[in-house]
Amino acid sequence: MKCLRCGYCCISLDVVIVDDPEKGPRQSNLSIKETGVPCKHLRGEKCGEISCAVHDKPWYSETPCFQHTQLPECSKAPCRMGSYIMSDKGSEVRQRIEAKLKGAH
Ligand code: SF4
Ligand code: SF4
Repeated sequence: MKCLRCGYCCISLDVVIVDDPEKGPRQSNLSIKETGVPCKHLRGEKCGEISCAVHDKPWYSETPCFQHTQLPECSKAPCRMGSYIMSDKGSEVRQRIEAKLKGAH
């Protein structure tokens, strides 16, 4: 699945994240980003242009976030949720996401 960087998952889901990027994914350095709270590693304020500050770390492939977007049987298909959010029908959701992102900075 190809993530369209709408930001929905990194705000709306409970996710286990690496707390301090310098320490990597060891057990004592994991925390839960709670539902509705923008992840502290999230960067950007516009749906479609969101990025993750730890995405390029050598250990990123060991994280639950990496696994979330790896469905080998359809790895090139665009995310269906993201496609909806980025469409005309998703404008209200986009506004809500972007309001949360602005409040997080
Ligand atoms: S670590 Fe990155 S991909 Fe995972 S929730 Fe945070 S911003 Fe999103
Ligand atoms: S809903 Fe899809 S496009 Fe949006 S952040 Fe999640 S995986 Fe990416």
